[in-house]
Amino acid sequence: MKNSAIDEIGQEKCTGCFGCFNSCNVEAISMEISKEGFYYPLINDGKCVSCGKCNNNCPVIRFKSDNYDEDKIKAYAGYTLDEDIRMESSSGGIFSELANYVLEQYGVVFGAKWNKNIKVNHSKVCNKQDLKELRSSKYVQSNIGNVYKNVLEELDRNKKVLFVGVPCQVAALKTFTQSESLITVDLICHGVPSMKVFESYLESKSRNKKVNSVNFRDKSKGWSKYCTKISFEDGSQYLKITREDPFFHGFICDLYLNSSCYDCKFASIPRSGDITIADFWQIDEELMDERGISLILTNNEKGENIIKELVKNNKIEIFEKTLEDALKGNPRIKNGHLRMRDKREECLRNIEEEGFEEISKKYIVNLKRYVY
Ligand SMILES: Cc1cc2nc3c(=O)[nH]c(=O)nc-3n(C[C@H](O)[C@H](O)[C@H](O)COP(=O)(O)OP(=O)(O)OC[C@H]3O[C@@H](n4cnc5c(N)ncnc54)[C@H](O)[C@@H]3O)c2cc1C
Repeated sequence: MKNSAIDEIGQEKCTGCFGCFNSCNVEAISMEISKEGFYYPLINDGKCVSCGKCNNNCPVIRFKSDNYDEDKIKAYAGYTLDEDIRMESSSGGIFSELANYVLEQYGVVFGAKWNKNIKVNHSKVCNKQDLKELRSSKYVQSNIGNVYKNVLEELDRNKKVLFVGVPCQVAALKTFTQSESLITVDLICHGVPSMKVFESYLESKSRNKKVNSVNFRDKSKGWSKYCTKISFEDGSQYLKITREDPFFHGFICDLYLNSSCYDCKFASIPRSGDITIADFWQIDEELMDERGISLILTNNEKGENIIKELVKNNKIEIFEKTLEDALKGNPRIKNGHLRMRDKREECLRNIEEEGFEEISKKYIVNLKRYVY
C-alpha cells in the first residue's frame, strides 16, 4: 500500500502542478480549488488503488534536474526581430520565436491562455494565428487539465512539442518524459497569486460589467511602465501602470502567493527547462529599449543549439551577459525562499467575505516590497 503523493508531501508543499492528476489512470484524483484559492488534488479513497503512480509524477518528490549548473549556463539579453510580436509580448518576445520554430516543423505548442470566463488554462496551439492567445503573462495559476497526457500523445504521433510554463509545471512534465522531441521552456516565476484574490479584484474593477479581456503586460506606456489593461464589453477600460495596481502590488509583495511558492525548489539553478525566459530587468543603458528585453538562460546543449539557430535564421538578436548581470534584477533565481507575510493567512481567510477593496485598504496599500 503506497501513500498518495499529496498525503506524502502535504497541501502546504503542493504546487498545484497537476502531475498527480495526469498520472492517475483510475480517475481517483480531482483537482479542486483550496479555500486560499490554489489548485490541489483531492483523492477519492474509494477509487484509489494505491499504485504509487502519483508519487512517481509528483515533482516535489521526484524531480531532479540534470541541466547545467551555474558555471555552464549561458545568459543572454535578447528580443525578437518581429516588431509586432515584440509589442504583444511581455518582454522581448522570445517565447513566440521558440513557438514559431516548432510550428514551422509541423509541431505543436502548449502554453497558458485566458478562456472566455477569464480563467487561465494550458492549451494546445497548432498554428501561428492562434499563438497570440498564449502571449503575455497571466499572473494567476494556470489549469493544466490533461495537458501532460496530451503532450505524450503528440510525442507518440512523432510531433515536435514545445511546452512553456512555470518551473514546477515543467518539472512535472519532465517526470513523464525526457523525449528528445520535447522542448521545455520555464519562466522565472515570482510565485502565483491566489485565484480568489484575483477574482475578487476583477469583480471590484468590473462592477457587474462583463470583462472581455485582461492584459497584465500592456506596453502602451512602454516595457518599464507596463500596464494592467482590463477591457469591458461596453467599450470602457481600466488602465493602470501594473506596479501601481493594488492586485499586482500585493502579489509582488508576497502577500497572497501559494504556500509552496515561499520555498520553491524549482526557482533556482539547475532549472527544469531546456531554456529559461524572463524580463531582463536592470539591463545596461545601451541595450535598454522600451519595446522590451528578454532574459534568456540556456540550461543545456539542446537549449543553446535552438537559441543559436534562431539567431542564425535572423529571428532574434542576442547579447551574451554574465549570469551575475542577468540575475541582478531577478534575485528569485538565486534561491527559492520568500518571506511569508504575517497577515497572509488572515488576508486569504477574509477575502471572500470582505472583498478586494477592503482587503486592499487593510493589508495592501501600506506594504513595502522586500529586498532579497
Ligand atoms: C506567474 C508568473 C510569474 C512571473 N514572474 C517573473 C519574475 O519574477 N521575473 C521575471 O523576469 N519574469 C517573470 N515572469 C515571466 C515574464 O513575465 C514573461 O513571461 C517572460 O519574460 C516571457 O516573455 P516573452 O516576451 O518571451 O513571452 P510572452 O509572449 O509574454 O509569453 C508568455 C509565456 O508565458 C506563458 N504563461 C503566461 N501565463 C502563464 C501562467 N500563469 N502559467 C504558466 N505559463 C504562463 C505563456 O504560455 C507564454 O508561453 C513570470 C510569469 C508568470 C506567468
